[in-house]
Amino acid sequence: MALLVSGVEWPGEGVDPREAVASALVVPPDRILACQLVRKSLDARRRRKRWVANYRVDCEQEEELLARKGVRVWTDRDDLRFGCVDLTSVPRQPWPPSCRPIVVGAGPAGLFAALRLAEEGASVTLIERGGSVEERVRGVNGFWRRRLELDPESNVVFGEGGAGTFSDGKIYTRRRDGELGYIFRRLVDFGADERILTDGWAHLGTDKVRAILPAFRERLEQLGVELRYRTCMTDLLVEDGRCVGLRLGSGEELRRAPVIVAAGHSARDSYEILIRAGAAAEARTISIGARIEHPQELIDRARYKNARGELPPASYRLAWKPTRGRRAHTFCMCPGGIVVPATNHPERVVVNGMSFFSRQAFWANSAVIVEVQPGEYPGTDALGGPALSGPDRAGGLGAGWRGLHGAGSTGGGPPGGARQQLRAEEQLSPWPGGL
Ligand SMILES: Cc1cc2nc3c(=O)[nH]c(=O)nc-3n(C[C@H](O)[C@H](O)[C@H](O)COP(=O)(O)OP(=O)(O)OC[C@H]3O[C@@H](n4cnc5c(N)ncnc54)[C@H](O)[C@@H]3O)c2cc1C
Repeated sequence: MALLVSGVEWPGEGVDPREAVASALVVPPDRILACQLVRKSLDARRRRKRWVANYRVDCEQEEELLARKGVRVWTDRDDLRFGCVDLTSVPRQPWPPSCRPIVVGAGPAGLFAALRLAEEGASVTLIERGGSVEERVRGVNGFWRRRLELDPESNVVFGEGGAGTFSDGKIYTRRRDGELGYIFRRLVDFGADERILTDGWAHLGTDKVRAILPAFRERLEQLGVELRYRTCMTDLLVEDGRCVGLRLGSGEELRRAPVIVAAGHSARDSYEILIRAGAAAEARTISIGARIEHPQELIDRARYKNARGELPPASYRLAWKPTRGRRAHTFCMCPGGIVVPATNHPERVVVNGMSFFSRQAFWANSAVIVEVQPGEYPGTDALGGPALSGPDRAGGLGAGWRGLHGAGSTGGGPPGGARQQLRAEEQLSPWPGGL
């Protein structure tokens, strides 16, 4: 039996943690046989900021420590959650050759679905309406920096890597899903920084995501996955109430099942296809908001009560829950990041936060959103909410590039006096002229 010991003061990089773990458990250090760091995060609530860590611990007479605060038995679920077990080593039945899945969408959900299936021996086809990440980056830079036409099929949200490719690449979740460790391990295999395995608030950074994707693709190809870019599902084929395949934009039919539709958040046409095919869908509460920006230094001082020093750029999360009225909260906060145009429609305005791995940009940005309930937006079907931000609405906001630019976003550059602090990564700002 091993233990999960939480709330240990992290002794620092390269320091043997046994003494710190022993001190947290109030036992002599020689009782600790082994310990492995599984998570660490910064506790910024007190005057003295400290890194707090959780460890998997092997020690003598473990049972008697179970009553201590922050100590519990290490479970099989923890093995999966912290990536201590390789799922490919779990023995299973051979994959039936007649079952050849098609995955729609090469965002994180589709990529990992294809990978897991292929690792199990399935013959997988992965289709993606957008281009490869290399093609995408060229197209997005052209749209951002040279004001080239938006490509509605391959852009900030569509294409290899999905909607998170041009973002902060945050990879934490409030869910404690048992198999997250597998995802993190694979990301490291494909080139992510090892620290994502232990950082409580891990993020990849847009620069790293772009570098990980070609390695991911190479692995899929090694496993025999057929990858088809610029290939859009336009219909699902349903016979006798069962999905038997799909139709592509070219008219070609792929009569293979099962079909996994991992179409993400922004492909409304794909939702229409699903609903037409008989998938269950319901109107839900949606969130609407805007991005706000502050100098990162202001956030650091507010959170750390001092200059940042060696600490990471500070983040925040705010929530307003009135007893009556609309709730609001901040979401997707990007420390040291930039605000980018993130639309997939020439007449729609969407902004997102993006940051590089080092998060060294001048600004911090965050979305502030309010909840809008079904009944408050037009229409009663499942697509009523998404339609609220349709092209007809964008006009009111000042549609397109010019309107967005004029809407007050700083787009990554600091104001006048602070201009000399413009960091290298902000010079890659999507806004023409670096503004
Ligand atoms: C504007 C925006 C900003 C975001 N910002 C952040 C952030 O900063 N940090 C963060 O962690 N998360 C962010 N998210 C959320 C994050 O991007 C998603 O959680 C994640 O991308 C979901 O992964 P997915 O694979 O389900 O879908 P997606 O990443 O959306 O991938 C779906 C893929 O399916 C493809 N597709 C869709 N329809 C079809 C079709 N008919 N045929 C073929 N291919 C199709 C699309 O081209 C796309 O590549 C953001 C999302 C959006 C929309």
